[in-house]
Amino acid sequence: MVLQQLGGSITRALQQMSNATIIDEKVLNECLNEITRALLQSDVQFKLVRDMQTNIKKIVNLDDLAAGHNKRNIIQKAIFNELCKILDPGKPAFAPKKGKPSVVMFVGLQGSGKTTTCTKYAFYHQKKGWKPALVCADTFRAGAFDQLKQNATKAKIPFYGSYMESDPVKIAEEGVERFKKENCDLIIVDTSGRHKQEAALFEEMRQVSEATKPDLVIFVMDSSIGQAAFDQAQAFKQSVAVGAVIITKMDGHAKGGGALSAVAATKSPVIFIGTGEHMDEFEVFDVKPFVSRLLGMGDWSGFMDKIHEVVPMDQQPELLQKLSEGNFTMRIMYEQFQNILKMGPIGQVFSMLPGFSAELMPKGREKESQAKIKRYMYMMDSMTNEELDSTNPKLMNESRIMRIARGSGRQVRDVMEMLEEYKRLAKIWSKMKGLKIPKKGEMSALSRNMNA
Ligand code: GDP
Repeated sequence: MVLQQLGGSITRALQQMSNATIIDEKVLNECLNEITRALLQSDVQFKLVRDMQTNIKKIVNLDDLAAGHNKRNIIQKAIFNELCKILDPGKPAFAPKKGKPSVVMFVGLQGSGKTTTCTKYAFYHQKKGWKPALVCADTFRAGAFDQLKQNATKAKIPFYGSYMESDPVKIAEEGVERFKKENCDLIIVDTSGRHKQEAALFEEMRQVSEATKPDLVIFVMDSSIGQAAFDQAQAFKQSVAVGAVIITKMDGHAKGGGALSAVAATKSPVIFIGTGEHMDEFEVFDVKPFVSRLLGMGDWSGFMDKIHEVVPMDQQPELLQKLSEGNFTMRIMYEQFQNILKMGPIGQVFSMLPGFSAELMPKGREKESQAKIKRYMYMMDSMTNEELDSTNPKLMNESRIMRIARGSGRQVRDVMEMLEEYKRLAKIWSKMKGLKIPKKGEMSALSRNMNA
Protein backbone atom coordinates (compact mmCIF):
# COMPACT_ATOMS: atom_id res chain seq x y z
CA MET A 1 0.00 0.00 0.00
CA VAL A 2 1.54 3.30 -0.98
CA LEU A 3 1.72 6.09 1.55
CA GLN A 4 -1.06 8.17 0.16
CA GLN A 5 -3.40 5.19 0.17
CA LEU A 6 -2.47 4.64 3.79
CA GLY A 7 -3.34 8.25 4.59
CA GLY A 8 -6.62 7.80 2.71
CA SER A 9 -7.51 4.60 4.59
CA ILE A 10 -6.82 6.18 7.96
CA THR A 11 -8.83 9.26 7.08
CA ARG A 12 -11.74 7.08 5.93
CA ALA A 13 -11.63 5.03 9.13
CA LEU A 14 -11.79 8.22 11.18
CA GLN A 15 -14.59 9.57 9.05
CA GLN A 16 -16.66 6.43 9.48
CA MET A 17 -16.20 6.65 13.20
CA SER A 18 -17.18 10.28 13.44
CA ASN A 19 -20.31 9.51 11.43
CA ALA A 20 -21.44 7.11 14.15
CA THR A 21 -23.99 8.66 16.51
CA ILE A 22 -22.64 7.01 19.63
CA ILE A 23 -18.96 6.38 20.11
CA ASP A 24 -18.62 3.37 22.34
CA GLU A 25 -15.82 0.89 22.76
CA LYS A 26 -17.07 -1.17 19.83
CA VAL A 27 -16.99 1.76 17.40
CA LEU A 28 -13.56 2.85 18.62
CA ASN A 29 -12.24 -0.71 18.27
CA GLU A 30 -13.60 -0.98 14.76
CA CYS A 31 -11.90 2.26 13.84
CA LEU A 32 -8.59 1.17 15.39
CA ASN A 33 -8.79 -2.22 13.70
CA GLU A 34 -9.30 -0.52 10.37
CA ILE A 35 -6.26 1.68 10.98
CA THR A 36 -4.24 -1.33 12.14
CA ARG A 37 -5.08 -3.16 8.94
CA ALA A 38 -3.99 -0.18 6.86
CA LEU A 39 -0.68 0.10 8.71
CA LEU A 40 0.05 -3.62 8.39
CA GLN A 41 -0.69 -3.46 4.68
CA SER A 42 1.84 -0.64 4.51
CA ASP A 43 4.44 -2.94 5.99
CA VAL A 44 4.71 -1.36 9.37
CA GLN A 45 6.00 -4.06 11.67
CA PHE A 46 3.30 -6.01 13.53
CA LYS A 47 4.67 -5.28 16.99
CA LEU A 48 4.82 -1.54 16.33
CA VAL A 49 1.22 -1.53 15.18
CA ARG A 50 0.07 -3.53 18.18
CA ASP A 51 1.87 -1.24 20.63
CA MET A 52 0.45 1.78 18.88
CA GLN A 53 -3.07 0.42 19.18
CA THR A 54 -2.60 -0.21 22.90
CA ASN A 55 -1.21 3.28 23.43
CA ILE A 56 -4.03 4.96 21.57
CA LYS A 57 -6.58 3.09 23.62
CA LYS A 58 -4.85 4.32 26.76
CA ILE A 59 -4.81 7.91 25.55
CA VAL A 60 -8.29 8.13 24.11
CA ASN A 61 -10.75 8.48 26.89
CA LEU A 62 -14.16 7.20 25.86
CA ASP A 63 -15.93 9.37 28.43
CA ASP A 64 -14.44 12.45 26.79
CA LEU A 65 -15.62 11.21 23.44
CA ALA A 66 -19.14 10.59 24.72
CA ALA A 67 -19.26 14.13 26.12
CA GLY A 68 -19.32 15.42 22.58
CA HIS A 69 -15.75 16.55 22.19
CA ASN A 70 -14.53 16.40 18.64
CA LYS A 71 -13.93 12.66 18.47
CA ARG A 72 -12.21 12.66 15.18
CA ASN A 73 -9.74 15.30 16.27
CA ILE A 74 -8.92 13.54 19.53
CA ILE A 75 -8.24 10.24 17.82
CA GLN A 76 -6.47 11.78 14.86
CA LYS A 77 -4.21 13.65 17.25
CA ALA A 78 -3.47 10.43 19.17
CA ILE A 79 -2.57 8.64 15.92
CA PHE A 80 -0.51 11.61 14.78
CA ASN A 81 1.45 11.63 18.04
CA GLU A 82 1.98 7.87 18.01
CA LEU A 83 3.29 7.88 14.43
CA CYS A 84 5.58 10.81 15.25
CA LYS A 85 6.82 8.94 18.29
CA ILE A 86 7.77 5.92 16.20
CA LEU A 87 9.57 8.10 13.66
CA ASP A 88 11.35 10.21 16.23
CA PRO A 89 13.85 8.13 18.18
CA GLY A 90 14.36 11.01 20.59
CA LYS A 91 17.90 11.91 19.71
CA PRO A 92 19.02 13.70 16.56
CA ALA A 93 21.61 12.18 14.24
CA PHE A 94 25.19 13.38 14.42
CA ALA A 95 25.38 16.58 12.39
CA PRO A 96 28.71 17.10 10.59
CA LYS A 97 30.08 20.63 10.85
CA LYS A 98 31.17 22.61 7.84
CA GLY A 99 34.94 23.18 7.81
CA LYS A 100 35.68 20.35 10.24
CA PRO A 101 36.51 16.96 8.69
CA SER A 102 33.82 14.32 9.27
CA VAL A 103 33.74 10.77 8.00
CA VAL A 104 30.33 9.40 7.01
CA MET A 105 30.07 5.72 6.16
CA PHE A 106 27.17 4.38 4.10
CA VAL A 107 25.89 0.84 4.61
CA GLY A 108 22.98 -1.07 3.07
CA LEU A 109 22.18 -3.99 0.83
CA GLN A 110 23.17 -3.99 -2.81
CA GLY A 111 20.44 -2.46 -4.90
CA SER A 112 19.13 -0.33 -2.04
CA GLY A 113 20.41 2.79 -3.80
CA LYS A 114 23.47 3.23 -1.60
CA THR A 115 25.93 4.43 -4.24
CA THR A 116 23.38 6.81 -5.77
CA THR A 117 22.54 8.13 -2.31
CA CYS A 118 26.23 8.70 -1.43
CA THR A 119 26.48 11.06 -4.40
CA LYS A 120 23.16 12.73 -3.66
CA TYR A 121 24.30 13.33 -0.08
CA ALA A 122 27.62 14.76 -1.29
CA PHE A 123 25.91 16.91 -3.91
CA TYR A 124 23.37 18.24 -1.41
CA HIS A 125 26.16 19.39 0.92
CA GLN A 126 28.33 20.69 -1.89
CA LYS A 127 25.51 23.02 -2.92
CA LYS A 128 25.48 24.33 0.63
CA GLY A 129 29.17 25.18 0.51
CA TRP A 130 30.77 22.01 1.89
CA LYS A 131 33.80 20.29 0.46
CA PRO A 132 32.68 16.67 0.13
CA ALA A 133 34.65 13.70 -1.24
CA LEU A 134 33.68 10.13 -2.13
CA VAL A 135 35.58 6.93 -1.34
CA CYS A 136 34.57 3.65 -2.98
CA ALA A 137 35.27 0.82 -0.55
CA ASP A 138 33.17 -1.70 -2.45
CA THR A 139 35.61 -4.12 -4.02
CA PHE A 140 33.15 -6.99 -4.17
CA ARG A 141 30.90 -5.73 -6.94
CA ALA A 142 32.57 -5.31 -10.29
CA GLY A 143 31.62 -1.91 -11.64
CA ALA A 144 30.99 -0.33 -8.25
CA PHE A 145 33.99 1.96 -8.59
CA ASP A 146 33.05 2.92 -12.14
CA GLN A 147 29.55 3.84 -11.02
CA LEU A 148 30.80 6.01 -8.18
CA LYS A 149 33.40 7.58 -10.43
CA GLN A 150 30.80 8.43 -13.04
CA ASN A 151 28.42 9.97 -10.50
CA ALA A 152 31.22 11.88 -8.78
CA THR A 153 32.57 13.25 -12.04
CA LYS A 154 29.12 14.45 -13.08
CA ALA A 155 28.75 16.33 -9.81
CA LYS A 156 32.39 17.48 -9.81
CA ILE A 157 33.10 15.82 -6.49
CA PRO A 158 36.58 14.37 -5.80
CA PHE A 159 36.64 10.57 -5.47
CA TYR A 160 38.99 7.78 -4.51
CA GLY A 161 39.01 4.08 -5.40
CA SER A 162 41.04 1.40 -7.11
CA TYR A 163 40.68 -1.18 -9.87
CA MET A 164 43.62 -3.20 -8.57
CA GLU A 165 43.38 -3.22 -4.80
CA SER A 166 41.01 -5.86 -3.46
CA ASP A 167 41.13 -4.96 0.22
CA PRO A 168 38.26 -2.55 0.97
CA VAL A 169 39.69 -1.67 4.38
CA LYS A 170 42.93 -0.49 2.82
CA ILE A 171 41.14 1.61 0.19
CA ALA A 172 38.84 3.16 2.78
CA GLU A 173 41.76 4.05 5.03
CA GLU A 174 43.82 5.52 2.19
CA GLY A 175 40.88 7.49 0.80
CA VAL A 176 39.94 9.00 4.16
CA GLU A 177 43.58 9.84 4.88
CA ARG A 178 44.01 11.55 1.56
CA PHE A 179 40.87 13.65 1.71
CA LYS A 180 41.64 14.70 5.27
CA LYS A 181 44.95 16.04 3.97
CA GLU A 182 43.09 17.84 1.21
CA ASN A 183 40.92 19.53 3.82
CA CYS A 184 37.66 17.98 2.68
CA ASP A 185 35.08 18.41 5.42
CA LEU A 186 32.70 15.59 4.45
CA ILE A 187 34.39 12.32 3.55
CA ILE A 188 31.83 9.79 2.40
CA VAL A 189 32.72 6.10 2.37
CA ASP A 190 30.59 3.80 0.20
CA THR A 191 30.80 0.16 1.33
CA SER A 192 29.88 -3.13 -0.24
CA GLY A 193 26.27 -4.31 -0.09
CA ARG A 194 26.74 -7.95 -0.96
CA HIS A 195 29.03 -10.85 -0.25
CA LYS A 196 29.13 -14.57 -0.76
CA GLN A 197 27.94 -14.89 2.79
CA GLU A 198 26.08 -12.47 4.96
CA ALA A 199 28.54 -12.92 7.81
CA ALA A 200 31.41 -11.84 5.56
CA LEU A 201 29.53 -8.68 4.54
CA PHE A 202 29.00 -7.67 8.14
CA GLU A 203 32.57 -8.53 9.09
CA GLU A 204 33.89 -6.35 6.27
CA MET A 205 31.67 -3.47 7.33
CA ARG A 206 32.96 -3.79 10.89
CA GLN A 207 36.56 -3.67 9.68
CA VAL A 208 36.00 -0.65 7.42
CA SER A 209 34.32 1.08 10.32
CA GLU A 210 37.18 0.29 12.68
CA ALA A 211 39.74 1.57 10.20
CA THR A 212 37.98 4.81 9.24
CA LYS A 213 36.32 5.62 12.59
CA PRO A 214 33.26 7.24 11.02
CA ASP A 215 31.51 10.08 12.83
CA LEU A 216 28.24 8.84 11.39
CA VAL A 217 27.09 5.55 9.85
CA ILE A 218 24.08 5.94 7.56
CA PHE A 219 21.92 2.93 6.79
CA VAL A 220 20.34 3.14 3.33
CA MET A 221 17.11 1.23 2.78
CA ASP A 222 14.89 0.71 -0.23
CA SER A 223 11.37 1.79 0.74
CA SER A 224 9.78 -1.11 -1.09
CA ILE A 225 11.28 -3.98 0.84
CA GLY A 226 8.18 -4.47 2.93
CA GLN A 227 7.92 -6.36 6.17
CA ALA A 228 11.59 -7.38 5.95
CA ALA A 229 12.58 -3.79 6.82
CA PHE A 230 12.73 -4.26 10.56
CA ASP A 231 14.94 -7.37 10.54
CA GLN A 232 17.23 -5.99 7.87
CA ALA A 233 17.76 -2.70 9.68
CA GLN A 234 18.34 -4.51 12.94
CA ALA A 235 20.96 -6.80 11.40
CA PHE A 236 22.95 -3.78 10.20
CA LYS A 237 22.59 -2.01 13.52
CA GLN A 238 23.96 -5.05 15.32
CA SER A 239 27.14 -4.98 13.23
CA VAL A 240 27.93 -1.27 13.02
CA ALA A 241 26.84 1.78 15.00
CA VAL A 242 24.11 2.98 12.63
CA GLY A 243 23.27 6.58 13.56
CA ALA A 244 20.88 7.64 10.79
CA VAL A 245 18.65 6.20 8.08
CA ILE A 246 18.00 7.26 4.49
CA ILE A 247 15.00 5.74 2.73
CA THR A 248 15.25 5.54 -1.04
CA LYS A 249 12.78 5.18 -3.91
CA MET A 250 9.98 7.00 -2.13
CA ASP A 251 8.86 8.10 -5.60
CA GLY A 252 7.84 4.60 -6.60
CA HIS A 253 5.11 2.37 -5.26
CA ALA A 254 6.71 2.63 -1.88
CA LYS A 255 5.45 0.82 1.11
CA GLY A 256 6.41 3.65 3.38
CA GLY A 257 5.79 1.67 6.53
CA GLY A 258 9.33 0.37 6.20
CA ALA A 259 10.57 3.80 7.26
CA LEU A 260 8.80 3.45 10.57
CA SER A 261 10.20 -0.04 11.04
CA ALA A 262 13.78 1.01 10.20
CA VAL A 263 13.69 3.82 12.74
CA ALA A 264 12.33 1.50 15.39
CA ALA A 265 14.96 -1.15 14.63
CA THR A 266 17.96 1.19 14.56
CA LYS A 267 16.67 3.77 17.04
CA SER A 268 18.04 6.30 14.58
CA PRO A 269 16.19 9.04 12.73
CA VAL A 270 15.45 9.16 9.01
CA ILE A 271 17.43 12.17 7.79
CA PHE A 272 16.74 12.20 4.05
CA ILE A 273 14.56 10.43 1.53
CA GLY A 274 15.37 9.62 -2.09
CA THR A 275 12.61 10.58 -4.50
CA GLY A 276 14.10 9.70 -7.89
CA GLU A 277 17.16 8.57 -9.77
CA HIS A 278 18.55 12.06 -10.33
CA MET A 279 21.13 13.71 -8.17
CA ASP A 280 18.81 16.39 -6.85
CA GLU A 281 15.86 14.10 -6.15
CA PHE A 282 16.70 14.06 -2.50
CA GLU A 283 14.79 15.67 0.37
CA VAL A 284 15.46 16.44 3.98
CA PHE A 285 13.12 14.34 6.08
CA ASP A 286 10.97 16.06 8.71
CA VAL A 287 8.79 13.91 10.94
CA LYS A 288 5.80 16.17 11.56
CA PRO A 289 5.10 17.33 8.01
CA PHE A 290 5.61 13.72 6.83
CA VAL A 291 3.04 12.34 9.26
CA SER A 292 0.66 15.24 8.55
CA ARG A 293 0.74 14.41 4.91
CA LEU A 294 0.41 10.72 5.66
CA LEU A 295 -2.80 11.37 7.54
CA GLY A 296 -4.12 13.71 4.87
CA MET A 297 -3.83 16.62 7.30
CA GLY A 298 -1.68 18.68 4.96
CA ASP A 299 1.60 20.32 5.75
CA TRP A 300 0.47 23.67 7.05
CA SER A 301 3.82 25.31 7.50
CA GLY A 302 4.98 24.36 3.99
CA PHE A 303 1.64 25.44 2.62
CA MET A 304 1.76 28.86 4.27
CA ASP A 305 5.29 29.35 3.00
CA LYS A 306 4.02 28.60 -0.48
CA ILE A 307 1.18 31.09 -0.09
CA HIS A 308 3.73 33.76 0.76
CA GLU A 309 5.90 32.72 -2.14
CA VAL A 310 3.27 32.54 -4.84
CA VAL A 311 0.23 34.65 -3.98
CA PRO A 312 1.01 38.30 -4.82
CA MET A 313 1.85 40.26 -1.67
CA ASP A 314 -1.12 42.58 -1.97
CA GLN A 315 -3.56 39.67 -2.18
CA GLN A 316 -2.17 37.69 0.73
CA PRO A 317 -3.81 39.49 3.66
CA GLU A 318 -7.18 39.39 1.94
CA LEU A 319 -6.98 35.68 1.19
CA LEU A 320 -5.79 34.75 4.66
CA GLN A 321 -8.41 37.00 6.18
CA LYS A 322 -11.13 35.27 4.17
CA LEU A 323 -9.82 31.87 5.20
CA SER A 324 -9.63 32.79 8.86
CA GLU A 325 -13.27 33.87 8.69
CA GLY A 326 -14.01 30.32 7.65
CA ASN A 327 -16.04 31.45 4.62
CA PHE A 328 -14.65 29.24 1.93
CA THR A 329 -16.57 30.38 -1.11
CA MET A 330 -16.43 29.03 -4.63
CA ARG A 331 -14.48 32.14 -5.58
CA ILE A 332 -11.80 31.31 -3.04
CA MET A 333 -11.63 27.79 -4.41
CA TYR A 334 -11.24 29.26 -7.90
CA GLU A 335 -8.45 31.56 -6.75
CA GLN A 336 -6.78 28.64 -4.97
CA PHE A 337 -6.88 26.57 -8.12
CA GLN A 338 -5.33 29.46 -10.03
CA ASN A 339 -2.56 29.68 -7.46
CA ILE A 340 -1.99 25.96 -7.50
CA LEU A 341 -1.62 25.90 -11.27
CA LYS A 342 0.91 28.71 -10.91
CA MET A 343 2.90 27.08 -8.14
CA GLY A 344 4.24 23.88 -9.68
CA PRO A 345 5.78 21.41 -9.66
CA ILE A 346 2.21 20.64 -8.99
CA GLY A 347 2.76 17.32 -7.24
CA GLN A 348 4.81 18.74 -4.43
CA VAL A 349 2.55 21.67 -3.79
CA PHE A 350 -0.63 19.67 -3.78
CA SER A 351 0.45 17.34 -1.09
CA MET A 352 1.00 20.35 1.16
CA LEU A 353 -2.52 21.66 0.86
CA PRO A 354 -4.85 20.53 3.58
CA GLY A 355 -7.46 18.26 2.06
CA PHE A 356 -6.02 18.36 -1.39
CA SER A 357 -3.61 15.49 -1.04
CA ALA A 358 -4.99 11.98 -1.31
CA GLU A 359 -8.37 12.46 -2.95
CA LEU A 360 -7.83 15.26 -5.42
CA MET A 361 -4.30 14.39 -6.37
CA PRO A 362 -3.18 10.78 -6.15
CA LYS A 363 0.59 10.59 -6.51
CA GLY A 364 1.81 9.83 -10.00
CA ARG A 365 -1.36 11.24 -11.56
CA GLU A 366 -0.47 14.91 -11.47
CA LYS A 367 -1.40 15.46 -15.13
CA GLU A 368 -4.89 14.10 -14.57
CA SER A 369 -5.26 16.23 -11.46
CA GLN A 370 -4.25 19.30 -13.35
CA ALA A 371 -6.79 18.51 -16.06
CA LYS A 372 -9.44 18.01 -13.42
CA ILE A 373 -8.72 21.38 -11.86
CA LYS A 374 -8.90 23.10 -15.22
CA ARG A 375 -12.24 21.37 -15.88
CA TYR A 376 -13.59 22.63 -12.55
CA MET A 377 -12.39 26.11 -13.40
CA TYR A 378 -14.16 26.10 -16.79
CA MET A 379 -17.39 25.18 -15.05
CA MET A 380 -16.88 27.91 -12.47
CA ASP A 381 -16.44 30.37 -15.32
CA SER A 382 -20.12 29.78 -16.07
CA MET A 383 -21.19 30.68 -12.56
CA THR A 384 -22.66 34.03 -11.55
CA ASN A 385 -21.03 36.32 -8.99
CA GLU A 386 -23.79 35.49 -6.56
CA GLU A 387 -22.98 31.79 -6.88
CA LEU A 388 -19.24 32.31 -6.57
CA ASP A 389 -19.54 34.44 -3.43
CA SER A 390 -22.23 32.51 -1.66
CA THR A 391 -21.63 30.34 1.38
CA ASN A 392 -25.18 29.02 1.28
CA PRO A 393 -25.09 25.39 0.07
CA LYS A 394 -28.83 25.49 -0.75
CA LEU A 395 -28.33 28.15 -3.41
CA MET A 396 -27.12 25.64 -5.98
CA ASN A 397 -30.47 24.26 -7.10
CA GLU A 398 -31.22 22.06 -10.08
CA SER A 399 -31.81 24.84 -12.60
CA ARG A 400 -28.55 26.59 -11.67
CA ILE A 401 -26.63 23.32 -12.00
CA MET A 402 -28.18 22.68 -15.41
CA ARG A 403 -27.34 26.21 -16.55
CA ILE A 404 -23.68 25.79 -15.52
CA ALA A 405 -23.48 22.44 -17.29
CA ARG A 406 -24.91 23.93 -20.48
CA GLY A 407 -22.74 27.02 -20.25
CA SER A 408 -19.53 25.05 -19.91
CA GLY A 409 -20.47 22.25 -22.29
CA ARG A 410 -20.27 19.61 -19.55
CA GLN A 411 -22.61 17.05 -18.06
CA VAL A 412 -24.73 17.72 -14.99
CA ARG A 413 -22.82 15.01 -13.17
CA ASP A 414 -19.56 16.91 -13.80
CA VAL A 415 -21.01 19.98 -12.14
CA MET A 416 -22.23 17.83 -9.26
CA GLU A 417 -18.75 16.38 -8.86
CA MET A 418 -17.25 19.86 -8.75
CA LEU A 419 -19.77 20.94 -6.12
CA GLU A 420 -18.99 17.87 -4.04
CA GLU A 421 -15.32 18.74 -4.22
CA TYR A 422 -16.14 22.26 -3.08
CA LYS A 423 -18.12 20.93 -0.12
CA ARG A 424 -15.31 18.61 0.89
CA LEU A 425 -12.70 21.36 0.77
CA ALA A 426 -14.98 23.89 2.49
CA LYS A 427 -15.36 21.48 5.39
CA ILE A 428 -11.63 21.06 5.78
CA TRP A 429 -10.86 24.72 5.36
CA SER A 430 -13.49 25.71 7.85
CA LYS A 431 -10.98 24.48 10.41
CA MET A 432 -9.00 27.60 9.68
CA LYS A 433 -11.78 29.69 11.17
CA GLY A 434 -10.52 31.93 13.95
CA LEU A 435 -6.95 31.09 13.24
CA LYS A 436 -4.33 33.68 14.05
CA ILE A 437 -2.89 34.71 10.72
CA PRO A 438 0.87 34.36 10.78
CA LYS A 439 3.24 36.82 9.19
CA LYS A 440 6.19 35.55 7.23
CA GLY A 441 8.61 33.86 9.62
CA GLU A 442 5.91 32.85 12.07
CA MET A 443 5.14 29.64 10.25
CA SER A 444 6.36 27.14 12.77
CA ALA A 445 3.97 28.53 15.37
CA LEU A 446 1.09 27.99 13.01
CA SER A 447 2.26 24.51 12.17
CA ARG A 448 2.41 23.70 15.87
CA ASN A 449 -1.13 24.99 16.29
CA MET A 450 -2.48 22.87 13.53
CA ASN A 451 -0.64 19.79 14.60
CA ALA A 452 -1.46 20.18 18.28
P1 GDP B 1 23.49 0.14 -4.57
O1 GDP B 1 23.70 -1.22 -5.14
O2 GDP B 1 22.84 0.07 -3.23
O3 GDP B 1 24.71 0.99 -4.56
O4 GDP B 1 22.37 0.84 -5.48
P2 GDP B 1 22.52 1.87 -6.66
O5 GDP B 1 22.91 3.20 -6.15
O6 GDP B 1 23.31 1.29 -7.76
O7 GDP B 1 20.98 2.01 -7.08
C1 GDP B 1 20.22 0.92 -7.58
C2 GDP B 1 19.15 1.46 -8.52
O8 GDP B 1 18.21 2.23 -7.80
C3 GDP B 1 19.73 2.39 -9.58
O9 GDP B 1 19.07 2.11 -10.79
C4 GDP B 1 19.36 3.78 -9.08
O10 GDP B 1 19.22 4.71 -10.13
C5 GDP B 1 18.06 3.51 -8.39
N1 GDP B 1 17.74 4.48 -7.33
C6 GDP B 1 18.47 4.86 -6.27
N2 GDP B 1 17.81 5.75 -5.50
C7 GDP B 1 16.60 5.94 -6.08
C8 GDP B 1 15.42 6.74 -5.75
O11 GDP B 1 15.34 7.46 -4.75
N3 GDP B 1 14.39 6.63 -6.62
C9 GDP B 1 14.42 5.84 -7.73
N4 GDP B 1 13.34 5.80 -8.51
N5 GDP B 1 15.47 5.08 -8.04
C10 GDP B 1 16.56 5.12 -7.25
